[in-house]
Amino acid sequence: MINTLDPKYEVKAKRIIGQIHGKQPGPILIFFGGIHGNEQAGVTALENVIKELEQSDHSFQGSLYAIKGNLPALVKGKRFLDKDLNRIWTTPEIQKIKARNPKGLLNEERQLLEILDLVQGILESGKGPFYFIDLHTTSSKTLPFITINDALINRRFSKLFPVPIILGIEEYLEGPLLSFINEKGYVSLGFESGQHTEDVAIKNSIAFTWLAMVYSGFLKKTDVKNIKGHYEQLQKSAENNSNFYEIKYRHALKDSMGFKMMEGFRSFEEVVEGTPIAIENDEFIEVEKDTILFMPLYQEQGEEGFFLIRKLPTWVLGLSAFLRRIRFGSLLQFLPGLSWANKEKESLLVNTKVASFFTKPFFHLLGYRNRVIDSTHFIMNNRELTAKNAMYRNTWWYRITTRKSL
Ligand SMILES: [Zn+2]
Repeated sequence: MINTLDPKYEVKAKRIIGQIHGKQPGPILIFFGGIHGNEQAGVTALENVIKELEQSDHSFQGSLYAIKGNLPALVKGKRFLDKDLNRIWTTPEIQKIKARNPKGLLNEERQLLEILDLVQGILESGKGPFYFIDLHTTSSKTLPFITINDALINRRFSKLFPVPIILGIEEYLEGPLLSFINEKGYVSLGFESGQHTEDVAIKNSIAFTWLAMVYSGFLKKTDVKNIKGHYEQLQKSAENNSNFYEIKYRHALKDSMGFKMMEGFRSFEEVVEGTPIAIENDEFIEVEKDTILFMPLYQEQGEEGFFLIRKLPTWVLGLSAFLRRIRFGSLLQFLPGLSWANKEKESLLVNTKVASFFTKPFFHLLGYRNRVIDSTHFIMNNRELTAKNAMYRNTWWYRITTRKSL
């Protein structure tokens, strides 16, 4: 383990890439780049945008912050030094870190505390609405895409962008930064712009940032000279794919040393039944059914070998939005085998022995995401009940239900 006090890792880089404050109140945008230290593209993109904003004479509404994530890991160009900074944002973990002697903290734990402090300061600085956007890149080739926790506010804001959207990744990952922020009820989008070192990953992040500034109302569309170009950049890069997808499988790695993806796969690639896609402990992994591959691992550090996803039909998305709007979920507690797991009524305890007729997809429709606690019980957390819908109700994008292009 690397001791965080080791002067070798002392970093002089500033965490805040830039901040812009308009004269008028308005949305508050928080962009992160480099939460993973080997993902420089987001940082470079934010530096580029900030420079242009500082030199412009636009009238801004609200505030924008561009923040660097894992400072020492960025210097080293490594995903992380001690542990993954994007897997430790759970309330119990944060409480543990806060309770410890700061001198004994690992690098990423110290990074977490600094970022948390900054975010809390920003949240106290204004009324919002707040928009959190986390820029990442992947080790494999990929179309650019958005990942969100499946709350309606996230769906609605993210579908403005002409790229595919992946729902429910938080069900498979423990402790990403955005899930933590989303649980506080704010709009929070992860944007994966391309492969780590490709130029297009920077270009896509720049385009995404400009669009987010316009869509949130921080900038007027007419003030951004090439807004159409930014839109088309993403649309072209995403090969006109703007579908919603759901994760259906995560290939967890206990030890990434024994795992190797076969060469040449990329995210969103359709793979036919029986195709060998990876080698694990000297054995081929073949896909059992025709499927879509997502985020295959082509680097040493990582906890997932690959994911499999499926496209969500439009009618499913429409039905689930409708059920959530009429608060169908509040009736569930009256059904056998279901009870509230906490007094805020955000979580539902499901006894699978009694409530065996309810399947996971049914709960997904209603905005619940599951966490298994033992072989006969799981807890479903409802994203909609924590979402701060009132904060976004007056935005132009909140009420539209169809995808809008520029
Ligand atoms: Zn990342």
